[in-house]
Amino acid sequence: MPPHNRKFSNRITTFLYVKKFPSKVIESFTAMSFKKIRQLPTPEEIKENVPFPKELCEKKIRRDEEIKAVFEKKDNRFIVVIGPCSAHDEEAVCEYVSRLAAIQEKVKDKLIIIPRIYTNKPRTTGQGYKGMAHQPDHLKEPNIAEGIIAIRKMHVRSFSQSELSAADEMLYPNNHPYLDDLICYVAIGARSVENQQHRLTASGLDIPVGMKNPTSGDINVALNSVLAAQIPHTFSYNGWEVTTSGNPYAHLILRGWVSSTGRPRPNYHHENLIDASAVYTQRSMKNPTIFVDTNHDNSGKRFGEQPRIAKEVMRSRQYDPALKNLIRGLMIESYLKEGAQKADEDVYGKSITDPCLGWEDSEKLLYEIAENC
Ligand code: PEP
Ligand code: MN
Repeated sequence: MPPHNRKFSNRITTFLYVKKFPSKVIESFTAMSFKKIRQLPTPEEIKENVPFPKELCEKKIRRDEEIKAVFEKKDNRFIVVIGPCSAHDEEAVCEYVSRLAAIQEKVKDKLIIIPRIYTNKPRTTGQGYKGMAHQPDHLKEPNIAEGIIAIRKMHVRSFSQSELSAADEMLYPNNHPYLDDLICYVAIGARSVENQQHRLTASGLDIPVGMKNPTSGDINVALNSVLAAQIPHTFSYNGWEVTTSGNPYAHLILRGWVSSTGRPRPNYHHENLIDASAVYTQRSMKNPTIFVDTNHDNSGKRFGEQPRIAKEVMRSRQYDPALKNLIRGLMIESYLKEGAQKADEDVYGKSITDPCLGWEDSEKLLYEIAENC
């Protein structure tokens, strides 16, 4: 039987089986895979529960416009997305972001500082802490219903105290509406960047979306994603057939890559930037922009290397006007305390995922970036 007929005939068999033994089939599906725990609130319900005040919303939209102007090359300020690898503790995150706000005020002519408030964490093998959206208390069992409220509360509080709208990673595209009125920047991670639903969802967002190069290091994979996000699509999203208009602010993030022997390899050096720039500009895309992630496989997670890496990128920008025009931001992992702790430890202001630069070094680095951009 030709393969397409075989497939068709299988479908018929399943259909007849379901008709004849409906409960048996449904039971086996349930036992095999999913068990429903609880129904989650809708984004509308969550937004009613944890509202974002209108006057703050207007400020957030004004800041969105300033950020977009950087991508459109109408504003020459440099963007720094900075903060912990994962935001696991509202108190420490809000203290950290308030400290950033004090710096932002001093360097407002040079930098736009966007705090990283990452509430969803991709894991290399799927194991371990998945972020506050899954585990509002990192020392307790997962509870997504509470997690969604916790992440919204944290983002609302952080903005209210600092007026710095934040970045988050869009790991689960369906969850984006829980925070869509609050965040000003979205990253698509190295492990998600080739996924169709991420790309299509990105095409409907009206804020910049950074596409990380995949862990293989293939820049074209990330640029395919940038292109996919920049054009309109029709697809299914959260129970709706939707269309999008395309996102002209989708761009590339260089985060280093992993060799076939598992070693971290950088892509922030001058030659890497020239290469990436050549590939990027060959493909006609809107607002070509590169951000460089100073941690992950660029530093090999040696968090203390981030200032050196950041300064090298700033030097490359100063040396080559074309790079200066293209590279408009850095992404830095930083927190109140340097390094990282295990997920079951509880040191205040210390990362429970990737190791971060500590506060004093981060503060010094932000001023150095401001002087050299
Ligand atoms: C991160 O930003 O913490 C992260 C997991 O990044 P990547 O997807 O580049 O590994
Ligand atoms: Mn990280």
